[in-house]
Amino acid sequence: MDLKIPSTGQKRLVIIGGGFGGIELTKRLKNQDIQVVMLDKHNYHCFQPLLYQVATGGLEPGSIAYPLRKFMQDIPNGIFRLAEVRNIDAVNQKIHTDIGDLNYDYLVIATGSTTNFFKFSKEVSGKMMQMKDIPQALNLRSFILENFEEALLTYDESKKEELINISIVGGGPTGVELAGALGEMRKNILPKDYPEIDFTKMQIHLFESGDRLLGAMHPENSAKVLKYVKDFGVEVWLNTMVTDFDGDVLTTADGKKVKCETLIWTAGVKGNPVEGFAPETIAGGNRISVDEYCKIKGYENIYAIGDVASMVQEKYPKGHPMVAPVAIQQGELVADNILAQLKGKAPKPFVYFDKGSMATVGRNKAVMEAKGIKMGGFIAWLAWLFVHVMSLVGFRNKITVTLGWLYNYFTYDRTLRLIIRPFKHKEE
Ligand SMILES: Cc1cc2nc3c(=O)[nH]c(=O)nc-3n(C[C@H](O)[C@H](O)[C@H](O)COP(=O)(O)OP(=O)(O)OC[C@H]3O[C@@H](n4cnc5c(N)ncnc54)[C@H](O)[C@@H]3O)c2cc1C
Repeated sequence: MDLKIPSTGQKRLVIIGGGFGGIELTKRLKNQDIQVVMLDKHNYHCFQPLLYQVATGGLEPGSIAYPLRKFMQDIPNGIFRLAEVRNIDAVNQKIHTDIGDLNYDYLVIATGSTTNFFKFSKEVSGKMMQMKDIPQALNLRSFILENFEEALLTYDESKKEELINISIVGGGPTGVELAGALGEMRKNILPKDYPEIDFTKMQIHLFESGDRLLGAMHPENSAKVLKYVKDFGVEVWLNTMVTDFDGDVLTTADGKKVKCETLIWTAGVKGNPVEGFAPETIAGGNRISVDEYCKIKGYENIYAIGDVASMVQEKYPKGHPMVAPVAIQQGELVADNILAQLKGKAPKPFVYFDKGSMATVGRNKAVMEAKGIKMGGFIAWLAWLFVHVMSLVGFRNKITVTLGWLYNYFTYDRTLRLIIRPFKHKEE
């Protein structure tokens, strides 16, 4: 079986992944003399930075997803196939997918990353919740709400504690944003939804193995965020490794035990390469080793960009941070470099322009830093809102997210506390 891609007489570039890198690359090649085929296992682009708001009922999933077919309507030289890539046959320039095979002239791997559970066995990690894509965020939303429903029905106080407590592992931006959102829900929403549950007994724990939250940011911002999450009553455990979880109780390296059925793992990601490359091309963090042009080492016509790519530069000895701006900028660069390659011109090396970083903790509170300037509080929070709305793909999503936030802000509510697809008590 093949993917029935029409032959246009142009060289064919196949991009695997319609994430931040893949769509930026495609946009840049609009109307160029090259056929662009995008493959993705989902038919939508996902704006991952707002997944935690879907998981906590603040935003509907459709407002952070954008149909890739709609995106491709604007690319006359582009074509999309919903396909999961299984492996690459670089010798024959062929891609094997779950719906058939496809030949390429140029190939870009933009497959992003997956959760890294490090040394945890599948049995243990299988009991933890993750939040890397929309189905997982919806699972988390259902799981938390199903646990509250179950807590109403139990007379066993110890079981009730397990059901309502939530632990988050990982004190990076995702962990602190989630902790803030959950803290806000516990304060403003849950006691009204479940008046029979005593939410003063609900514990939200945030575990971080390092000595501060937001380890990649300035220590002053780490201290601010620590205060913000503690203001929400979140119990923060620094220098604390979670070493085990049996589905009811988690254990830390120093022997602490915490009762909780919900353990959300946000403590690591690793590259998500497709199979078919020589083992020496896979660098630390399971990322594909690329040169300064984003070309996979040892291959003339295959590139990798974004989270899945590891480009070691003096300033980035372990590769660039796995964040959206890196993927976007590498997408732009590779578009230019492929066009240059087509015309026999010299490629340009990648220079990362770091625009800074930010994180929010509940309403009115955020931290940001860029170009040596650090800021916290309300202004940083407004900047966070603005940057996230503007970065969303699609006008409708910008509008729905803005309206959703306005509603949440003025009503102190999150109306999407829906168990659409049960996760814990799956329907037959
Ligand atoms: C919860 C969370 C919060 C985040 N917050 C921020 C933030 O605040 N700021 C920031 O800059 N970054 C943030 N990030 C990181 C950011 O989302 C990533 O760095 C960015 O998405 C990487 O872009 P990418 O194009 O490399 O991959 P992705 O955007 O992950 O896209 C990869 C695409 O490849 C597809 N794919 C994967 N494997 C296959 C396959 N075998 N076949 C076909 N398709 C495949 C996937 O479906 C996906 O569409 C966050 C990430 C998460 C998970």
